[in-house]
Amino acid sequence: MLSLAQMLGNVSQAHVQSPDDWAQSVTDVLRDAAIYHQAKNGFYRAQCDALGVDPAAINDIGDLQELPLLPVSMFKRPDAQVLLTCSLADVETETRSSGTHGIQSVARRNSETMTRALVGLIGTYREFFNLSGGAGLFLNPTDSEASEMGLLKDFNILNSVFDHHAYLVDDQAFDAREAMEHLRRWKGHMTRHIVGPPFLINRLLRFLEQEKVNVRLDPYSMIITLGGWKRHTAEAIPEEGFRDRCHDLLGVRPANVRDMYGMIESNMLAVECHLHRKHVPPWCYISIRDPGQVGKELPSGDTGTIAILDALNTSYPGFLLTDDVGNVESGTCGCGRTGQVINFRRRGQGSGLGNCPVSIERYLDSRNSAADEAPALVKV
Ligand SMILES: [Zn+2]
Repeated sequence: MLSLAQMLGNVSQAHVQSPDDWAQSVTDVLRDAAIYHQAKNGFYRAQCDALGVDPAAINDIGDLQELPLLPVSMFKRPDAQVLLTCSLADVETETRSSGTHGIQSVARRNSETMTRALVGLIGTYREFFNLSGGAGLFLNPTDSEASEMGLLKDFNILNSVFDHHAYLVDDQAFDAREAMEHLRRWKGHMTRHIVGPPFLINRLLRFLEQEKVNVRLDPYSMIITLGGWKRHTAEAIPEEGFRDRCHDLLGVRPANVRDMYGMIESNMLAVECHLHRKHVPPWCYISIRDPGQVGKELPSGDTGTIAILDALNTSYPGFLLTDDVGNVESGTCGCGRTGQVINFRRRGQGSGLGNCPVSIERYLDSRNSAADEAPALVKV
């Protein structure tokens, strides 16, 4: 069995545990995380108490579904600091999404969580992309379209594995000519890679098509995508078609076109292997929930609401009920890695599915009334 420190220290090894060892390792690290939050976070403890859940009693991977979940919609609330396990003074970063529906989501992270997440991301990138050197062309959307500054952060860390890079952040229109300039300049000197959300990469592809420009990147070039199509869903094309276009117009092998799945509220980033299956990190567990009954975990392969359990987070409980829809499989992938593979289907409608058994209002009320009673107790 691997501890969290061992997983982070050797991401590759953590991805090839036997299926039984994987199940026990992920159960152990998530149980320890839940015990930590239950002990230090009054709001999470109230959820455990309301559901009658004792995190210390979690033994088997099947028990993980018992853990209380925080709906991601709660991160949009002005009083979202109630969710914190760490103190506000310990918060190092506040990651905000522009919010597809107008209201920003704020995810606060302390330094311990940031360090673990950064180490985990670098290990994950190196494990899946085998990148060492080369040049990265980053097609970054504007903040308002990034929907998540966390997305940019995830990309920036990827930058650390390259020798050279260029950022293109568009203000109004994406400048495909400038992108082409960078690619031409690096030709013959470095292996060229392109990183960005699919809608921006697709604009580059459309430009090449319209201008009838013939570009062949290098034999080991990669195209790495994250963040979906955002409000450009009208331009969206199926993944396989997208990979074919990358191959036809940029000469990048379809196996080297890789997508990733994540969200700002979680440290979980699932990255595609060469077989285009998105592997869940070994320190996370995905539980698919019945949308009509979110307390219920659906069997492997069934499509439902995605819940993410993450052991890295010490800022707030990393046990989240998302609005996203997908399914999950576990076992051994054709690439040799074990654990879970997630199939993301679509972003939810932000309807804020589900609630905590104890609402933020009720929790704050109970704390206030406890404070009111305190002086009386002192008098006695
Ligand atoms: Zn795989």
